[in-house]
Amino acid sequence: MHKKVTFLLTETFHMFNYNLKVEFYLYIITTDYLVKKIFIKLIEVNCMYNYMLNKTNNISSQEAIELLKNLVCIKSDFFHEEKIMKFTYEWLKNNNLNIEFHNYEDKKITGFKGINLIGSLEGSKQGPVILINCHLDTVNECSGWTKHPYNPVIENGRLYGLGALDMKSGCAAALMALKKFNETIKEFKGKIIYSFVSDEEGPYGLGTSFSIKDKLYKDADIAIILEPSSGFLFTQKQSICLGARGGYQYKIKLYGKSSHAATPQNGINAIEDASKLIVELSKLPAAYDEKLGNSSICITDIKSKGNGCSVPDYAEIEIFKHIVMGENKQSIIEEIKLAAINANIKSKYEIVFREDPLDGSGGFMPYTVDEKNKYIKEFYDCVEDITGKSPEINYFSSIGDFNTISEKLNIPVIVYGPSGSNFHSYDEYVEIDTFLEVSEVLYGYLVKKLT
Ligand SMILES: [Zn+2]
Repeated sequence: MHKKVTFLLTETFHMFNYNLKVEFYLYIITTDYLVKKIFIKLIEVNCMYNYMLNKTNNISSQEAIELLKNLVCIKSDFFHEEKIMKFTYEWLKNNNLNIEFHNYEDKKITGFKGINLIGSLEGSKQGPVILINCHLDTVNECSGWTKHPYNPVIENGRLYGLGALDMKSGCAAALMALKKFNETIKEFKGKIIYSFVSDEEGPYGLGTSFSIKDKLYKDADIAIILEPSSGFLFTQKQSICLGARGGYQYKIKLYGKSSHAATPQNGINAIEDASKLIVELSKLPAAYDEKLGNSSICITDIKSKGNGCSVPDYAEIEIFKHIVMGENKQSIIEEIKLAAINANIKSKYEIVFREDPLDGSGGFMPYTVDEKNKYIKEFYDCVEDITGKSPEINYFSSIGDFNTISEKLNIPVIVYGPSGSNFHSYDEYVEIDTFLEVSEVLYGYLVKKLT
């Protein structure tokens, strides 16, 4: 008869990249004959190890994790991507994948000279053209990190580091899937375009916008973006994202009339009018979309020029508005006009949309993809087959390169990526098993679709 009497200790061993967490128990074999035996209960093995035991793997876990670590080690906040582009270029070259630098320059607003990477694999027969889009830049380092942001560590199946989730894991997953495809599939139809861009996290998404402008994504039938869909949506489940709200940033400039502060009735107070306008804007009903939810408005800044004992004759409101299907730049203008009438403001006003480096649209349009689209159904089935789990279909509340690709190329856009947390914050991490699954799914989808 076995009877557990006491718990001794828990210990974690680090072996290779695996965390082996074991519990030691003291067991008594019989009650009168005391034979003490240490029993080891394996309570946790790094989930990637489980993954290796349970799945038929096409992607080498060890190599994928090493690659991800190497990417995280290279600091690549937006506008500073040269080093990571060179590293990724070399990696692709060394793995016999064709790749070129794509240089661009935003002469209009930022003056930024950026670098993207672009490559393709072309089959011998006509077939679908699949675009894979990933960004290699990250946000800037914020305060509060308890791990090193550029020296990745693995703990409990999570890899920590700046960009580990958003989205160097997606980049590494794509690179590994492309390498495997190139090594194993010799005859195929169609084409894979792979694009590793800069400045997705910056204010304008220049990398992808210039790739589109320079026609690098020409003829693409579908785009797959390996942004961390599960991570962004705070879910542990597999998640395919089929749309996102759009967004516009703009200012409303109000011009009043100055007068002595003792006789405000003789002036037009621009600050008071701005306040009334904000109140009326917030009272307007939000637009609603079945998939994307409600639109929302956020006042992000307010400025004026105070002038001593005078009525202020100038005020400026800055707004970021997230929009849903059916809304656009014109509908934003209309609602400001309506709010101005409701507020009964006396100031003159003008609406100034944020300038755009390329086409002057100044914003991001919302989009949704039809779930019944054949590419979507096939991708969904692939996720299900390979991971053994039914993915959720979700929608993002904010903007990214996916909006730009959907709007400019007018093709279905799938966002599918790993889980994890703390993106755009400290102690960002990716769940390693989900990162490996993403790579497997992408490889599986490419094989299924192109062979
Ligand atoms: Zn991202």
